[in-house]
Order: sequence, then C-alpha cells, then structure tokens
Amino acid sequence: MPHVELPAELLPTDGRFGCGPSKVRGAQLEALVTRGASILGTSHRQAPVKNLVASTRERLSQLFRLPEGYEILLGNGGSTAFWDAAAFGLIENRSQNLVFGEFGGKFAAAATAPWLQAPDVRKAEPGTRSSAEAVAGVDVYAWPHNETSTGVAAPIRRMDADAGALTVIDATSAAGGIDVDVSQADVYYFAPQKNLGSDGGLWYAAVSPAAIERIERIAASDRYIPEFLSLKNALDNSRLQQTLNTPALATLLLLDDQLGWILDNGGLSWAGARTAESSRALYEWADASAVAKPFVSDPADRSPVVVTIDFDDRIDAAAIAKSLRANGIVDTEPYRKLGRNQLRVATFVSIEPEDVRRLIGAIDYTIERLPQA
Ligand SMILES: *Cc1c(COP(=O)(O)O)cnc(C)c1O
Repeated sequence: MPHVELPAELLPTDGRFGCGPSKVRGAQLEALVTRGASILGTSHRQAPVKNLVASTRERLSQLFRLPEGYEILLGNGGSTAFWDAAAFGLIENRSQNLVFGEFGGKFAAAATAPWLQAPDVRKAEPGTRSSAEAVAGVDVYAWPHNETSTGVAAPIRRMDADAGALTVIDATSAAGGIDVDVSQADVYYFAPQKNLGSDGGLWYAAVSPAAIERIERIAASDRYIPEFLSLKNALDNSRLQQTLNTPALATLLLLDDQLGWILDNGGLSWAGARTAESSRALYEWADASAVAKPFVSDPADRSPVVVTIDFDDRIDAAAIAKSLRANGIVDTEPYRKLGRNQLRVATFVSIEPEDVRRLIGAIDYTIERLPQA
C-alpha cells in the first residue's frame, strides 16, 4: 500500500516516538563524543569511569530527593536481570505481584522459583489495573509504576502489611518522567533506555534501609545466589562506584547527560509537567476523535509517558504506523503481544510537546488520506 506523504509542517523535528529504546537527544550524543573521548575505551576500575558512575548516582539521588538512608545501586543486565536478582536476593518467602501487562507478568514469572512460595499474582485485564492487598506471609509487594505494554500507570503507596514487608516498584519507563515520592517504596528500580533516554544494559535502584537490611540478611543465609545476580554484590560494588563486571560506558555517559539536563530544567516536577502536557494533548485528541479513543478507559489510570490509542474497525492502525514510518516517524506500533488495532506513543521527557502536537496533525492527515476499509 502506498504511504501518505506528509507536508513539512506536520513533520516533528524528531520522529522517534518509541517506548524503549527511546529518543536520545542530540545534546546527549554530542556529550557522548566530547566527554566520551576521555572515557570510552578506558578502564572501569580507574577514576574517570568511577567518577562517572558516582555522578549518575549523585544526580539520581538529587532527582529523586532521596530520603535519609536510601542508596542508589546499579548493576548489569537491565531490569530483566533485576527480576532474577530480586528472586534470589530480595524476596524472602513470597511476593505479591500485580500483573496488568507484559512487564508485571515477567517479574511474576521470575518470582516463581523453586526456593520461594508461589507468588500471589493479582491479574487485571490489559488497559485496567489491579491493586495490592495485604496478605499474611507476603514479604515483597511488587508492581510496575508504568506498565509500558499497555500505558497504564499505578499510584506508588507503601503497603501497610506484615512488619518488614517491602514495596518494590518497577519504574523502568516511569523513572524521571512521573513525579514520585520515593519514600513510599523500598525499591524503585529501572533501566535507563526509556524515559531517561539512554541505552540498554544497566539497572539502577533506589533502595531503602529496610531493603538493604533484607539484601544483607538473605545474602548471609545459606540460599544459593549466583554472583552475577547477587544484590549484596551490587550493593558493595555500587558503594565503590563500580559494577561486578564491565558496564556499558556509553550507557553511563548518555544517562549522566540526561540527568543533568532534567535537573537543570527543574527536576522531577518539571519532567512530570512536561510529560503530562504531551500526553494530555494525545488523550484529548483521542477523546474528541470519531475514530479513536484512549485504550485505558479510566482517566486516572492513563499513563503520562506511554499513550495507547485504540482505533475503530474502519481504520487500520498498522497502516497508519507504517505510513508514518515511511515519513520518518517511527515506533508508533503497539506492544507486539497486545495484538490490538492501536497506536502506542511515548511522551517521555525528551520528546518535545510541540512534536507531539505535530504527530497528532500527522495522524489526522494520514487517516483522511489512507483508504478506509
Ligand atoms: C522495558 C521494560 C522492562 C525491561 O527492561 P530491560 O532493561 O530491557 O530488561 C521492564 N519493565 C518495564 C516496565 C519496562 O518498560
């Protein structure tokens, strides 16, 4: 099918609207070249790289207004590795996992381990969400802050449950894009290739004193823990501004620049206001559209950083995404396993609100000109 050629005034200045990996700003790439010249290709056990790791930890502490006693940990392997690390070193006996999309489901699968009791899984239909409920014997309550596969965001509130139970939040696509009170979580973990506009391969976590105590207690027990997935190992290495094995230095450089940029602009409240502005434009457009509507029906659950828009049967969303792609507007396809007639658009902090408004114009223009079923 031939694509619809968009007029220049409808083309965003940057066509990257993917939910991860996501847009990396030009200034970050310049910093990668200038600052990277003395860092890329050098030892991660020497001062230049250790200072870079320290800077990312310090800037994350500032960004999240880190409460007294909390620490920033990091390790290799991204959020997926963190799930396995948590199964080995954070869950004592049993977790409760809220599953309202792919990513929550993947943590629930990782928490289904022979040395643990089967997790208490609270599942909800895609586009809606479940809530945590205190259950005796559960020592980790886990849910995503933002379910990237569906565009559902959940509130972050510490669970009032068994003494010592931890609240563990997957903030992979939310971190730095949704304002949050980190004191309401014991572990707020993420990978930096989504809203933080970096590249993949690392995980970071803001952890509370209670979580540190848990990590140390399980590490001292007789449970077998592979070294690569040991949170105690990550704790010790993070305090030394390093990782167990070689980290991706480019990922660290891109992240550090992004954190500096967000902090210079006003930090988390600025970032949250910016993603709210961008996402609101899309939701209002979809609410008013005759052929589209927000996939997440409860406005309170709609994500400010990942917007999912359903189309009615007369419109072929895949054809729209394909036509946009031919114009350099990429990655508006829905999450592959969701299988809906949908567009999914990231409204991360790096994305200009004006570019989101142009994208809306581009979608309207495309719909008018694509042949309808
Ligand atoms: C992308 C994503 C992940 C997976 O991150 P990786 O670094 O690729 O392992 C986990 N959770 C959420 C919410 C995500 O959006």
